[in-house]
Amino acid sequence: MIRIENLCKKYPGRDGGLVTAVEDVSFEVDEGQICVLLGPSGCGKTTTLKMINRLIEPTSGKVHIAGRDTSVMDAVSLRRTIGYVIQQVGLFPNMTVEQNICAVPDLLGWDKVKSRKRAAELLDIVALDPGQFLKRFPKELSGGQQQRVGVARALAADPPVMLMDEPFGAIDPINRETIQDEFMRIQRQVKKTVLFVSHDIDEAVKMADRIAVFRNGRIEQYATPDEMLARPASGFVADFMGS
Ligand code: ADP
Ligand code: MG
Repeated sequence: MIRIENLCKKYPGRDGGLVTAVEDVSFEVDEGQICVLLGPSGCGKTTTLKMINRLIEPTSGKVHIAGRDTSVMDAVSLRRTIGYVIQQVGLFPNMTVEQNICAVPDLLGWDKVKSRKRAAELLDIVALDPGQFLKRFPKELSGGQQQRVGVARALAADPPVMLMDEPFGAIDPINRETIQDEFMRIQRQVKKTVLFVSHDIDEAVKMADRIAVFRNGRIEQYATPDEMLARPASGFVADFMGS
């Protein structure tokens, strides 16, 4: 289970004051569940996600994963237990698709033959033909194909927790539906605890066990998709979900 308590992130502003990116955010995600962080651009979704794997250190507040306070853990070992799909994909340009997918297993010193076999299976899972794609470099892929490799790479070390920042944002609508369905099929088998950033309401309703609607760095409502559609907590949520 992931427990997020009173997370805040403030940055120094131009006028000498502070800019608040995330303000007093608290919520819990049960093991094996998908939580979607939903909201308009600039509302603090990415900042919240990056405070979970400590790519951004919180100004205040705590994150507990499986009962452990992440602030006292070694940040690098913490990140190796958390799969991360970033908004800008971030594949290593000088490595092939196969090397990208095997990057963390290699760092962890896993058996190379097994991790290469797994890389091919993972490509299959994200609907890319291994024979065609394993030896390609990122620049030889479309944006959507790169995102799928990003998802495969995040799954490679079989982490219990996955953080995904708009992972399907660059994929065209038809393929996006396919890959969402694929992801849900995989999720039924692997049961990761997933925090998933989206600004797409249909995607959130389809994939989430819980949705956190953000507004100006705060959580406006945290609920199941059904609850949120039936009983929006504010006019903002109603407008956002209705749009
Ligand atoms: P989202 O992912 O929801 O689009 P972000 O979490 O990236 O939003 O950003 C939340 C807010 O914090 C935005 O207003 C953004 O401009 C601000 N912000 C993010 N990073 C920084 C930074 N390094 N310095 C100052 N302000 C930042
Ligand atoms: Mg973002």
